[in-house]
Amino acid sequence: MAAKRDYYEILEVPKTATAEEIKKAYRKKAIQYHPDKNPGDATAEEKFKEAAEAYEVLSDQNKRARYDQFGHAGVGGTASGGGFGGGMSMEDIFSQFGDIFGGHFGGFGGFGGFSRSSRRTNRGSDLRVKVKLNLKEILHGVEKKIKVKKYVACTSCNGNGSENGTSVSTCSTCNGSGVVTRVQNTILGQMQTTTTCPTCNGEGRSITRRCTHCNGDGIVLDEEVISIKIPAGVEEGMQLSMSGKGNAARRGGVNGDLLILVEEEEHPDLIRDHNDVIYNLFISFPTAALGGTVEVPTIEGVAKVKIEPGTQPGKVLRLRNKGLPTVNGYGTGDELVNVNVYIPENLSDAEKKRVAELDKSPNFIPSKSAKKSVFNKFRKMFD
Ligand SMILES: [Zn+2]
Ligand SMILES: [Zn+2]
Repeated sequence: MAAKRDYYEILEVPKTATAEEIKKAYRKKAIQYHPDKNPGDATAEEKFKEAAEAYEVLSDQNKRARYDQFGHAGVGGTASGGGFGGGMSMEDIFSQFGDIFGGHFGGFGGFGGFSRSSRRTNRGSDLRVKVKLNLKEILHGVEKKIKVKKYVACTSCNGNGSENGTSVSTCSTCNGSGVVTRVQNTILGQMQTTTTCPTCNGEGRSITRRCTHCNGDGIVLDEEVISIKIPAGVEEGMQLSMSGKGNAARRGGVNGDLLILVEEEEHPDLIRDHNDVIYNLFISFPTAALGGTVEVPTIEGVAKVKIEPGTQPGKVLRLRNKGLPTVNGYGTGDELVNVNVYIPENLSDAEKKRVAELDKSPNFIPSKSAKKSVFNKFRKMFD
């Protein structure tokens, strides 16, 4: 961290500046570097905080005197930063110095942000929905239209809760800042406490006549059809969120989010294993012995699979890229075909005779080397 700059230098005032000059200088800096005017600009935010820190010290007679005498060390900070003031959050700044903006940004058309930031902002609650998807939808991603019941801004009052949207006045208790500051004299000196304004609950304004449509809440329960884009590769239990698509806030705050819980429909034939799907294939004993071609279901249809002569049960065939994509877009899973050989359970007398006939042939009895080879393949599956 770089060495702290001189507080007078930050506010560009001489060391002899009066309290009024310091306040004026700070207001100028605060407006210049205000986050609403410089969205996403980290340098501006730093400068905004720096100015607030300088003002915090120079606006206080005691602190200013100590600073003049001892520099940064005199006000609890170290020359290398950190300590006092360095940890001032934006919220601290607004709640402590919000009054400096009060009534002075009328000229800033559309700059409601100054007051918004110093007042408490209502936030609507999140809305939760479940979306059931089949594997085919998960394979490609899908757009789902869902009808939800949710709070939306009242159209009669534009969400501010007052009759016709106009019967609003600045809260007289807090003058619109949303906070009340009390200075108490204690044995330790003056203590300043800032609390949320009890009259307006921090909103900074009061309503003289309530909107009859929403009873002053600014929100009404309504139905909305929301289009939800589900990316490919999602899994059961995943939660997606759409920012700002949840419930509207009381009296014009920030909307909550829409949270979408993914549920997966069971596929009749396939079992999902993350990005792979597994199919349990049954082939006949003659097909296993002689080889052939069989059809297996896939997520999108069917695939033809070649069975080699002498295929043992337990063999796993891999159909590359017939699984599901990863949700982050890196790669696609496979379909694993787990081969089972169906042993007939009900045979006619004639069939029983033919099977018994087969058992006399030495080729039907596994030799030592055949068993070893099957075992080795089996072992490979676990590598
Ligand atoms: Zn209303
Ligand atoms: Zn108030």
